[in-house]
Amino acid sequence: MATTAHATGTLPDSSRFPRQAFVDGAFVDAAAGATFACVSPVSGETLFDVAACDADDVDLAVAAARRSFESGAWSRLAPRERRRVLLRLAELIKRDRDELALMITLDMGKPIGDAKGEVSGAVACLRYFAEAVDKVYGEVGPTGPSAVTMVTREPIGVVGLVVPWNYPILMPTWKLAPALATGNSVVLKPAEQSPIVALALAALAAEAGIPPGVLNVLPGFGETAGQALGRHMDVDKVAFTGSSEVGKLFLVYAGQSNMKGVQLECGGKSPNVIFADVPDIDLAVAESAEGIFGNSGQVCSAGSRLLVQESIADEILEKLAAEAVKWLPGDPLDPATRMGSMVDQEQMERVLRYIDAGTGEGAELRLGGTRARAESGGFYVEPTIFGGARNDMRIAQEEIFGPVVTAIPFASEADGVRIANDTVYGLTSAVWTRDINKAHRFARSIRAGTVCVNCYDRGDNSLPFGGFKQSGIGRDKSLHALENYTQLKTTYINVLDD
Ligand code: NDP
Repeated sequence: MATTAHATGTLPDSSRFPRQAFVDGAFVDAAAGATFACVSPVSGETLFDVAACDADDVDLAVAAARRSFESGAWSRLAPRERRRVLLRLAELIKRDRDELALMITLDMGKPIGDAKGEVSGAVACLRYFAEAVDKVYGEVGPTGPSAVTMVTREPIGVVGLVVPWNYPILMPTWKLAPALATGNSVVLKPAEQSPIVALALAALAAEAGIPPGVLNVLPGFGETAGQALGRHMDVDKVAFTGSSEVGKLFLVYAGQSNMKGVQLECGGKSPNVIFADVPDIDLAVAESAEGIFGNSGQVCSAGSRLLVQESIADEILEKLAAEAVKWLPGDPLDPATRMGSMVDQEQMERVLRYIDAGTGEGAELRLGGTRARAESGGFYVEPTIFGGARNDMRIAQEEIFGPVVTAIPFASEADGVRIANDTVYGLTSAVWTRDINKAHRFARSIRAGTVCVNCYDRGDNSLPFGGFKQSGIGRDKSLHALENYTQLKTTYINVLDD
């Protein structure tokens, strides 16, 4: 287990990392000259100051995006040309993978191995949408011989993207890739906790040949820059990933401005349901641990509610506690580390408050529950297991976004399904059973965007990802994501008789 602490001032050199906004093809300071401190949760050190953009910068970036869109330099390129440029961008990201991964790790505390994996995921996502876009056809309507009717997909125009910090390159790419592939111009606001890699991405996009104004990146705060994008009268669509609370605000912003379309990928409290006839108990335990401790539990699809059939509940929790030892927090810069820090001090304190709430409500704290590696100056929380919880407890209903699993025993299949669905969220879910009929019954009954059977949180670029209920509106990934960034046009051509 990696236990090296970083004394202040010993992080790798970050002086070459970008820190200005990227607008109309160039790095620039915020219009007001404001900055904010970029703090590394690895050690609590400030790396440097980053441009703090606000509404004036949003105006400038949206104007640049609009100009580029109207110019047709990207929006009217043949799809195969956009494909070529986006594949080049994927190659450049691959070329710089180690540097981009270091930016992610220093910025938000994810283990370096996971950060490299995330960068590779962004490469794969870009390739998927680049390859798809010149293979998608429109439709010819069945309107009879007196007309030729076509249904075509057109880019929406200027798209605002507001993304979180838990996957600083993958979350923007899930949205950027289909938005750019379909010819839109984009203004991206990364989370204040993790702006660096998004700025590096903008520079690589320019190097790949994406014209000025097509991709603008504005570091800044949600309440200023994020809100200004959401309310902008010349932004045609906003796609957001983050909390359900802020997702709802984007619906308000749209309603109070220009009725822009809103795509939302929000929170979760996903049920991971293990029946007594689980086919491979060790696999179930290993995937359950990864599903809640991976990325320090800062994952919208984390398996944060572990529903275990009563007869095997103790066995599962004992095995899970033994497995959790592999997830003790370590130095994020050590390639052997599996769990790094929380994104910042605020998130660490929020998670610790939830742990206190769980104990206060009478759940049994079976493992962890405290801050770790405090001597490093960074913000780490131990893998934490609550047993014997009830589904009406706060730790079973609210998104904690930390390495905290709430285990809830259940009796029958009907109980398991009822408890699994007893949440305002509906992002993902899993069921572990060797009974194929039970698996199908569960898959049909669960109100969630994804159901995994005998695995946890699997996905693929070819499969849609998104939520039912308050987990969101619309889907990222797969060809369905192209629908987020295009609109249908009907062309009706009257065929006149001679
Ligand atoms: P937020 O939902 O607040 O942040 C996501 C993005 O929205 C960030 O870019 C943020 O900017 C922006 N934003 C924040 N407030 C506004 C606003 N009023 N108007 C427009 N944009 C805004 O998540 P937090 O980072 O605050 O995390 C809080 C909780 O949200 C977590 O504990 C977790 O439960 C949940 N969350 C869920 C995620 C998911 O993937 N589903 C991802 C991240 C968080 P800024 O960075 O400046 O705040």
